[in-house]
Amino acid sequence: MTERIVVVGAALLDDGRLLAARRSAPPELAGRWELPGGKVEPGETPEAALVRELREELGVETETSDRVPGEWPLRAPYVLQVWTARLLPGSPAPKQLQDHDELRWLTPTELWDVEWLDQDVPAVRKIEGGLSHI
Ligand code: C5P
Repeated sequence: MTERIVVVGAALLDDGRLLAARRSAPPELAGRWELPGGKVEPGETPEAALVRELREELGVETETSDRVPGEWPLRAPYVLQVWTARLLPGSPAPKQLQDHDELRWLTPTELWDVEWLDQDVPAVRKIEGGLSHI
């Protein structure tokens, strides 16, 4: 059996808002919105991978906290796991450095204003369920 590879996504929260990022590539995903993140590399913890990916993709310094319970299948062998993250004090604001062409901070009432990647929808629903507790 092929090992599964974890893709980590961030529920990056600031002031009760969630960061959504619009993909610019590949063509089949371009224009759809996702939780920013990427593949965990061999020997890397998911939390470290998320901090690295957010630095590479958005130029931000972050720390992860709770995992959003659940695991969602992507194209095999990938599965999506999500961690809550926040900007560290003094972090630059997110910029679309790679993979994305637009960013939005969504309030809880705006969460469904963007067209999420199909595979991110269940994760966003789960995050929505937790937002009222922030
Ligand atoms: O960003 P990266 O290319 O490393 O992501 C690896 C794979 O995970 C891609 O196929 C991407 O579409 C998928 N992904 C996803 N949802 C996310 C982040 C990545 O489906 N929130």
